[in-house]
Amino acid sequence: MDITDPPPPKRGRGSTSKWKEITRILKTKYPGQFALVGSYSNGVATQIRQGKYAAFVPDGMELTASRIDYMQRHWEITTRRKGQSSDIYIKWIGGDCTCGYCT
Ligand SMILES: [Zn+2]
Repeated sequence: MDITDPPPPKRGRGSTSKWKEITRILKTKYPGQFALVGSYSNGVATQIRQGKYAAFVPDGMELTASRIDYMQRHWEITTRRKGQSSDIYIKWIGGDCTCGYCT
């Protein structure tokens, strides 16, 4: 037995700051181009499409339906399955719309 404080809980859904950096670079430097962002467990791409990753949606957007709609209009996400995981390709397709977040 060790008398010790538990370590901080693991953050779910990976590191937000890592995804923030990825989305920032795609938006500013490579709009309209797919990027291979890495290989992740199957299902991650679906969660991204559903707006469950905060880095992809505007700050403060809480409603699930709004997030899904935003994701469909602004991000294209496709996968190539590799065994237990999937390569995830992401493209920023927003920016020219009048959604209120891009203007
Ligand atoms: Zn927009």
